Amino acid sequence: MRRIAGIVAIILAAMIIGATPAAAAQGNATVSAKSGKAAKPKKLKAVVPSTSTIFGYIRKLTSFGYRRTGSKASLKAATYVRDSFRRFGLQNVQFQKAGSYSWKTDDSSLSVGGIKRDSFPIAHAFMGGTQTGSFGTGPQGVTAPIVDVGNGAASAFQAKDVNGKVVMFDLRFTGLPADLFKALDGVFVYDPDNTVPPGEVIPQPYITNFVDVTQRAMDNGAVGVVGVLSDYFDSKYYFNEEYRRLQMDIPGLWVTRDEGAAIRAQLSGDPNAPATIVMNGERKAAPARNVIGFLPGMSKSTLLISSHHDAVWDGAVEDGSGTAEVLALARYFGALKKKYRPMSLMFATMDSHFTGYQAHQAFMDKYVTGVPEAQRPRVNFAIEHIARHGYVDENGKLKMTNLPEVAGILQNVGTKPGKVINDAVVRNHLDRTIVIPATFFGASLPTDASFAYASGVPVVSLISGPIYLYDKQDTLDKVYKPHLRPMAMAYKEMIAKMSRMPLAELPGALPPSGAR
Ligand SMILES: [Zn+2]
Repeated sequence: MRRIAGIVAIILAAMIIGATPAAAAQGNATVSAKSGKAAKPKKLKAVVPSTSTIFGYIRKLTSFGYRRTGSKASLKAATYVRDSFRRFGLQNVQFQKAGSYSWKTDDSSLSVGGIKRDSFPIAHAFMGGTQTGSFGTGPQGVTAPIVDVGNGAASAFQAKDVNGKVVMFDLRFTGLPADLFKALDGVFVYDPDNTVPPGEVIPQPYITNFVDVTQRAMDNGAVGVVGVLSDYFDSKYYFNEEYRRLQMDIPGLWVTRDEGAAIRAQLSGDPNAPATIVMNGERKAAPARNVIGFLPGMSKSTLLISSHHDAVWDGAVEDGSGTAEVLALARYFGALKKKYRPMSLMFATMDSHFTGYQAHQAFMDKYVTGVPEAQRPRVNFAIEHIARHGYVDENGKLKMTNLPEVAGILQNVGTKPGKVINDAVVRNHLDRTIVIPATFFGASLPTDASFAYASGVPVVSLISGPIYLYDKQDTLDKVYKPHLRPMAMAYKEMIAKMSRMPLAELPGALPPSGAR
């Protein structure tokens, strides 16, 4: 068992280190949003909204355009959440601003031996961290021979000289073996229809070899990389978050599996055909806005309910769905009389999930580490990705099923509250859900709640990793509608029950040391 845990922990460590948010946050300041005073909210009944209402929240969020941090669509999304919070009766509703970044390319292209190849820029190439300014190869691009390193293991680099060359590699996704999770101590699996058979590997697009291979390429003097999306469906629009662990200062482009095969076929006939990579763009300072609102309860002890509203594409699942769940819960609890809220509630949707997590850091500084322990949230209920399960078929197409994506609820709330989670999952028929001790993941989590967890706030953090999560194809049809209302019901139950528990029963297991 320990060994199994170790293997999965190693798999996950790779992802977690990459996904851990940036530590530096600058220029953060809390401002009350300007546009007028909240109108007196009209009296609402305390009901969890219907499926179509919750889906309507997601539809609205996706209607603004790509909610990239700093964009107009992002401001519209934040404003929509803010206005909804007010309408639902939340108090002291505000934006919390933090300095983040927008990264974009103006042009990019790939040609090999003079033949144009279809490609898409690797997000956050050239600049990350706190760097700003224009970047690029210039209009002529960089031209150099291609060295194919396959999966890009260290041994592949030892065997080949990539200095001054363009490295071509296969991006590999590490599937998560469901059996390993099932076998862990303290895990609760709810799969009443046995749809997760033995041997099932849960596909996901975030634990990859990208950071390691790109770092090796740079360390060995490569002038650019071409990543073949080998485990992906036939899309080049793979755009993930900024990996703090990697400071990529060379250009890079993604190509589909088929395009990669065509380039390799070309190279087998003409091994010296050079690649020309053009990539120019700019990274600018951009504001991130968390949206925050409060519902005072009978005690000052506070529970935090959160997700993130920023997205690279439509982000119907990522994280229109999580934000919609936060709205549904705000709608429900906002309509309750104060006497029915034993604890105070705080609602937040974060920004900067894809651009370095500066707003998450600012949130922790202000509401967790910056206040006396008694004022910190007792639990962070974080909700992300109510997703339909999709997979890559043998022809490289994205095939959707009518099942929910296997989801994890990562928790470290303690024994009694843990039982409340398991019961809520079963009562609300949240099939294909696995409740996992968060501490199994080590010092940080692969979720938006990682900062809260690392700051010592116990979490109940829902996450899944559908294969299309970082793609243009994360559209409304990918949301798993049958879980929208049950998930809100389950979280409502968990929040209601935990807010009636003595504080001593919400201890939270501390994350292993070395957090963040
Ligand atoms: Zn998310």
